[in-house]
Amino acid sequence: MHVILGGTFDPVHHGHLRLAVELKEQLGVDRVTLVPCHIPPHRAQPGASSADRLRLLLQAVAAEPGLEVDDRELSRDGASFTADTLRQLREELGPRMPIAMVVGTDAFAAFDRWRDWQAIPELAHIIVVQRPGVDLPAASEAMALLAARRARSVQQLHDRPHGLILALSPPLLDISATGIRERIARGCSPRYLLPDSVWLDICAHGLYGHNGEA
Ligand code: ATP
Repeated sequence: MHVILGGTFDPVHHGHLRLAVELKEQLGVDRVTLVPCHIPPHRAQPGASSADRLRLLLQAVAAEPGLEVDDRELSRDGASFTADTLRQLREELGPRMPIAMVVGTDAFAAFDRWRDWQAIPELAHIIVVQRPGVDLPAASEAMALLAARRARSVQQLHDRPHGLILALSPPLLDISATGIRERIARGCSPRYLLPDSVWLDICAHGLYGHNGEA
């Protein structure tokens, strides 16, 4: 099964990396693929350039063979839409390979506002990860979709190429990229919230308003 975790990774932090490792183990796959998005259609512009975010991500996964980075959305012109990425992956991986995309309950709650969202279950499975304090609204399209397509086990995802939704509640670290950017801009240290290699690169390149001192 090919498992993708999309996001802005602005910057990547231990919350993302822990989630990816937990997913790799819970899903029984060799690898989880992190997919940084170029121009996120549903949110404010990121604080660092695509090239900076990609370099930080590559550094973060360098020592972890179970994680890899797919930069296809950064090399595509214009906005990144998940359905386009999944269509490309489906063509590359063929009709039978299970593909699963991971989304937090925060993102999945607004799933029916994603471009071409109805096509997504025809291309991939969806793994919805419970974010603390963000439940799906009871009477929502997202909840209806979950009820209709809910997977009862991880094995079901391995047995079919697409179409199921699995709800998971892995332990999550209470870390957000927003909190890290705010700390850096205030002159506070974000150390231990993200890999040291990523922090040193942020310092070296003066990202997120950092003054360049480690
Ligand atoms: P921001 O604070 O800028 O909104 P973020 O830290 O939430 O960023 P994203 O790049 O938007 O990070 O997240 C990428 C993916 O990782 C999303 O699916 C998101 O739900 C998930 N994620 C983000 N932070 C955590 C965390 N601490 N633990 C687990 N998953 C997380």
